[in-house]
Amino acid sequence: MFHSAALKLTLLYLAIIMALSIGLSVALYRVSSAELARSASRPVDLYNLIFGPDKVGDVRDLSSQQLEKDRGRLKFNLLLFNIGVLVVGGGISYFFARRTLAPIEENLEMQKRFTGDASHELRTPLTAMQAEIEVALRNRSLTKNESVELLKSNLEEVAKLKSLSEGLLSLATTTGKDTPHEPLSIKAATSEAISQVSKRAQAKKINFSITTKDLRIRGNHQQIVNLLSILLDNAIKYSAKGSHVKLSAKRDNKHVLISVSDQGQGIAKQDLPHIFERFYRADTSRTKNQAHGYGLGLAIAKKITDHHKGTIAAKSVPSKGSTFTVRLPLA
Ligand code: ADP
Repeated sequence: MFHSAALKLTLLYLAIIMALSIGLSVALYRVSSAELARSASRPVDLYNLIFGPDKVGDVRDLSSQQLEKDRGRLKFNLLLFNIGVLVVGGGISYFFARRTLAPIEENLEMQKRFTGDASHELRTPLTAMQAEIEVALRNRSLTKNESVELLKSNLEEVAKLKSLSEGLLSLATTTGKDTPHEPLSIKAATSEAISQVSKRAQAKKINFSITTKDLRIRGNHQQIVNLLSILLDNAIKYSAKGSHVKLSAKRDNKHVLISVSDQGQGIAKQDLPHIFERFYRADTSRTKNQAHGYGLGLAIAKKITDHHKGTIAAKSVPSKGSTFTVRLPLA
């Protein structure tokens, strides 16, 4: 598809180049040919002046023969020039057509990968549910307890599907357009994010220590709350019961520096460069088995920081803990 689009674009660019080149050549031919005619008539006029009109015939013939020859040479040179433009212009057009299409091609490839990953993630819980329901339907002596167990298990899968669809929606709808430049309080956003994750923290007996200065940035309050709750949620998810999570927000020149540190399992060196990619999950059996997720949280966090002209980075020591630092411009 891209090959034929590149060829079409090449032809379009080439048509523009050739139209310009041919137009220019025609204009050049007209001007030069008029100039040649003027130069050819000069010796005839001179001859006429010196020897009179009866003797001028031969010179006129010679002059017009010369003029035709010069015009022919001019035509030939312009033709050669246009053939050169066609060859070189073709190469240049193809190069620029590929360059124009490269980002679109890359984007489409990314979309394809994304759709593939998303459908794979959607299929896993659906397949599990389908298998359980089919087995239950075949069992004619299904007890009430077994039915309740089946429903509970299905409900778990439904919850996973819901969290996946919420993640996908959040990734799709987090755009720069939703980022009004309203001043917002980091302290207020932090409190809201903490209250969103507090149930999960309590369930794992994780305690928070929070030090936030009352700083203001410009942006979207809800997106900043989302960003903080993703980081806090991960800190809870990837930490052992009873551990400690630190959240701080301080001023650093013209920026606010927010950091979330945990004492959890940490991230291996080879995973660190990839954790902000969509659907990336560190491939340790502990991560995949114990902490449920789809690898979308940090991709959303990165998108939010980008829209706020900020940066996000992670540092980690395996088995010791991780620190995520977000830097956002102050209002
Ligand atoms: P999810 O948590 O749903 O898998 P994320 O995008 O939030 O997806 O995180 C991507 C991966 O980064 C996780 O699967 C995990 O391996 C790693 N990770 C993120 N935060 C932490 C953390 N605080 N401690 C250890 N690993 C983390």
